[in-house]
Amino acid sequence: MSYLVLARKWRPRNFEEVVGQDHVVRTLSHSLDNERLHHAYLFTGTRGVGKTTIARILAKALNCEQGITAKPCNQCDACTGVDQGSYIDLIEVDAASKTKVEDTRALLDNVPYQPTSGRFKIYLFDEIHMLSGHSFNAFLKTLEEPPSHVKFLMATTDPQKLPITVLSRCIQFNLRAMDTEEIGRQLTTILPEEGVAFEPAAINAIARLSQGSMRDALSIVDQAISFAEGNLSEAAVRDMLGMLSYDYISSILFALAERNADEILKIVDKMFERSVNIESALDDLLLQLHQLGLHKAAPKIVESRVDNVEQLQQLSKALSAEEIQLYYQIGLLGKRDLEQAPTPRIGLEMVLLRMMTFHPESQSAGITSAPAPAAGTGTEHATSGSAARRAQPQPASSAEPPPARNINISTAEEWLAFVQSSRSLSGMVKQFANMASFESRDGNKIVLVIPDNAPPSTTRKDNVTNLQNILSKVVGQEIELSIRKGSSDNSSPNDYVARKQRHAVEQAIEQIEQEEIPKMLRQEFDASPDTDSIRLPNHNSGQTG
Ligand SMILES: [Zn+2]
Repeated sequence: MSYLVLARKWRPRNFEEVVGQDHVVRTLSHSLDNERLHHAYLFTGTRGVGKTTIARILAKALNCEQGITAKPCNQCDACTGVDQGSYIDLIEVDAASKTKVEDTRALLDNVPYQPTSGRFKIYLFDEIHMLSGHSFNAFLKTLEEPPSHVKFLMATTDPQKLPITVLSRCIQFNLRAMDTEEIGRQLTTILPEEGVAFEPAAINAIARLSQGSMRDALSIVDQAISFAEGNLSEAAVRDMLGMLSYDYISSILFALAERNADEILKIVDKMFERSVNIESALDDLLLQLHQLGLHKAAPKIVESRVDNVEQLQQLSKALSAEEIQLYYQIGLLGKRDLEQAPTPRIGLEMVLLRMMTFHPESQSAGITSAPAPAAGTGTEHATSGSAARRAQPQPASSAEPPPARNINISTAEEWLAFVQSSRSLSGMVKQFANMASFESRDGNKIVLVIPDNAPPSTTRKDNVTNLQNILSKVVGQEIELSIRKGSSDNSSPNDYVARKQRHAVEQAIEQIEQEEIPKMLRQEFDASPDTDSIRLPNHNSGQTG
């Protein structure tokens, strides 16, 4: 096929075409014009910002047959050879696949020999940080005293992994991630030349999604062109971004906020129907949680950067800051464990169900919802069961003061509900209350039971006094609190939460097992070549190199 992907076709061929890296280009051009050359150059920056592109232009600048120049001619054999990747004196090494010391030695053995046709023999190491320690040691000797006909160009996304001995022998250039406007402007230049019609909003959406990487932006445009049949309308691009697991993630977050397991499993189903890549979906989920976390802290700034402000605001409202933090952590762990999961699908489902099952400690842990400020009956504290949690997808913000109403504590259930939802309890007193089971109430006298094995510090006198004061305040009557040590028939809040979480995890596992077996059978069946209905997914989940 003669179609050239845009990222390759529009790769800058000289320094003037490089976008967004003026500081690097200026310094390099200046030193080339004055022939003040270094023997080792290191280019750092995130993926897709142009590290190897600039290194290749530098290779041309050094070997152009017109002479060392900041403006290589792009006509001579050296220039065209570099552009086509066939120039014999430019040795490109993907360090990620040649990490071993033997590989490095084999390469360096050739260093002493003169270049074949050019002025310099140029080694370009991509992802240099991937070399092993031994490889770096072998490399270091050459780097200390290189022959004058050799230049080393290195690129890395992770300069911190380079030994300081190597770093100190390079001249270093830090490439920055491009901002959305720069990428947008560049796309607006390229698309008319490609004969592609577009709406500005579509370009903005793509520029935002590419997160500073011109290469990613062009790769998304490539996909969008074939998806939208050459007309990049806002609607088409949004549709496509939806297919790149973007919308699934928001739907998942909304379903999580509502603790709706059915919905979550349905969404996972859809993702599989469309062959969404699970690992990148999990990455997207983490990105969105990160963005939501930022939004909680600095809403205005984050809103100015995102595409769908309304949706962000809704999600931010539906999830508490603590939930966002917890989900992020669970997601990170899940990503780490994904490889070990029986299938990626099971891995993803378990991550999502874990998010649904566990609650941040500072919130009501599933026994009752925190008193809703809008409800006005004055008895909301005593409702039990997780139904309350489910009926109220937006947990009340923890910044709001508790309603000043008296509550009743005369039964074990009311005690549980109070400890779970009270915002007056904190620190040691809360720990103490969580361990205590309700025994009885007689007039203003409340008896609580603390297990024998409770640490002595929890039943310290000031803890008891503090709890007694808090109880008096919430009940609206001077309470006399007495503590008995021993066992109780009633659950303490701690027992209750532990039991509830165990139960939820068991349920989740059961649900997955029931779902998974028929799925696997169906997959087996679909894989049979005799079935007419087989249609292979032709969309490849939008992974970009
Ligand atoms: Zn040239």
